Amino acid sequence: MTDTRISAPAVDKGFIRRAVELADLNAVRVALFQLTDDAELAAMPPAAGLDEQTRERLISKAVAWLEEEAGPRQLPEPPEAELRRLMNMATGEEMPDLEFHARKDLPAFKDFPWMTDWTDGKRDLPEGFQVVIVGSGFSGIAMGVQLEILGIPYVILERRQEPGGTWNVNRYPDVRVDTISITYEYSFEKNYPWSEYFGRGAEVRKYLDFIAKKYGTHENTLFGHDLKRATFIESDSTWSLEVDTPDGTKSLSANMLVNAVGTFANPKIPSFEEQEMFEGTIVHPARWPEDLDLTGKRVAVIGNGSTGVQLLSPVAASAEQVFVFQRTPQWISPRDRYGKPVEPEVRWLLDNFPGYWNWWHYMAIAGLFQTHRLLILDEEWKAQGGKVNPANDKLRDDLKAYITAQTDGRQDLIDKLVPDYAPFSRRAVVDNGWYRALTRDNVQLVTDGIARLTPKGIETDDGTVHEVDIIVTATGYDVIKYLWPADYVGVGGLNLHEFWSKDGPRAYLGMLVPNFPNMFTIYGPNSQAVSGGSALPSWYVIWSAYTAQCIVRAIEHGKTRVEVKEAAYQRYNDALDEESKNLLIMKQEGAPEKNYYVNEFGRLQVNVPWYGPEYHRLCTEIEWEDIDIS
Ligand code: NAP
Repeated sequence: MTDTRISAPAVDKGFIRRAVELADLNAVRVALFQLTDDAELAAMPPAAGLDEQTRERLISKAVAWLEEEAGPRQLPEPPEAELRRLMNMATGEEMPDLEFHARKDLPAFKDFPWMTDWTDGKRDLPEGFQVVIVGSGFSGIAMGVQLEILGIPYVILERRQEPGGTWNVNRYPDVRVDTISITYEYSFEKNYPWSEYFGRGAEVRKYLDFIAKKYGTHENTLFGHDLKRATFIESDSTWSLEVDTPDGTKSLSANMLVNAVGTFANPKIPSFEEQEMFEGTIVHPARWPEDLDLTGKRVAVIGNGSTGVQLLSPVAASAEQVFVFQRTPQWISPRDRYGKPVEPEVRWLLDNFPGYWNWWHYMAIAGLFQTHRLLILDEEWKAQGGKVNPANDKLRDDLKAYITAQTDGRQDLIDKLVPDYAPFSRRAVVDNGWYRALTRDNVQLVTDGIARLTPKGIETDDGTVHEVDIIVTATGYDVIKYLWPADYVGVGGLNLHEFWSKDGPRAYLGMLVPNFPNMFTIYGPNSQAVSGGSALPSWYVIWSAYTAQCIVRAIEHGKTRVEVKEAAYQRYNDALDEESKNLLIMKQEGAPEKNYYVNEFGRLQVNVPWYGPEYHRLCTEIEWEDIDIS
């Protein structure tokens, strides 16, 4: 890895003070308390409630401590009661048991938070035992690291030539994480030196490559290997895999199969009427040509999801003219420090203030602890004229004010940009200067429907032809086609995609499907948490650890077959459907018909509806009664 740390900055009192002022003061206070036991720190309120004098006192104490004691070391995990006290201190709220158990690994003091270990030392494995993981993106690497820890042989099949999954595929302008990098990383790798607060795509690729090499998954990856068909062999409870490779089709056998193929694996390429007539270039962001030069070009950007919003500013900065085709307005919100480099002072603090990384990691996620309340309708509030509930309506007002400010109050734009459904009912889109870009002279927002393509451009329903050279179809992914297009054949010749054809993909906890023994899916159907605060990389580890618990238990009991009971799968999915109905996402106010996380059968498909800490409990305290091990 090339170290992006700033070498030896001149560290004087002013530098340290700037570092503390730029830092998360809740994290500073808790880390300092952990180091000093200073009762005055414990008595202070969280940063938002600090008066000027107390804030200054906190900063001075931190600066004074750092002047004397700063240095690179990691703190051990405090005993559980102390950890809980520190966590409560960080947010200023007492935490019930459910929440504590879901969050206690977020400060990540352990070497490998959440991961599974053997109950009583490593067991001998059956001869030739092998796990096959499909995909080497974030989730496949997490699963690989989990198996490395256990010492269980595995191989990762990756159809591309490098690890990274969706981060390897997407190379469009300004692609970057829209969740702050300190939470969009594995917590077993402490304090990775991100150069920006929200890592760019290339840096995320570099990070995943670094992790894969450091933790050993890279050398267990077969690149250029594309799974085509997986068949369960009942006689010996293994999976027989047919894999396309550069040397032709290969067969592989797996005792356990772990799908880690991601949700954003298949770009959704639209087909407009008379598309073949268009004489220009059509580009999906997931297939962005490295040498695409937009200088002086007329460009259409179709779509205003996370991708279309992320790429508009750089596209508008180089193209001559841009038409932005918006079908459905989105709630697009700003993020603090988005696009900003991590200052040398903050880098120094992360490296030299023990515990600061851990508590910043915790606090960066704590901001999401209360989000579930945004999703629950308050009927009393509505009866008094409210739209959803006080918190959601407040968010709506804030975002409307943001749109007004960003568009300089242009009513023609505001009328088109403010959605008629509630915020937080679709996946949040982060502003990368999208609203500002719409105010540029060379950018035009088009809200008429697309009727057809013509040789020269795009014709809208009102008959206008918008002449363009390049059409960027930021039209998303087939997020609801899980494990597609490979074929999976389970017990009795059952085809997985046929099994799912009734009302879309389903699984138990998002991971297990009956009649598909020894098969696990990471980030499977209904698994993306709607609330509660754990970023996706933590979930990849949690699902990997669940999978590992099942595999370890089978080995420790001398068994070869693990599967979810049909009744448990049914019970879980019935409850899931019921719970989904309570969420804003599935209510009229949340416009489920416009939500691509809801499938064609009107079912919530991508998200899991449970309150985050409850889903965490389900994924960490395994209900062994639901699982058959034989
Ligand atoms: P998306 O959220 O599905 O958005 C697709 C956009 O294309 C929507 O505006 C949609 O309009 C429009 N569209 C689709 N088909 C169309 C058609 N035939 N005619 C006109 N408009 C059409 O896709 P995305 O922006 O690629 O994002 C996909 C997922 O990737 C997101 O949920 C996000 O999780 C993830 N993502 C993450 C990041 C990040 O973390 N940095 C960046 C990019 C993407 P409608 O709304 O009317 O359907």
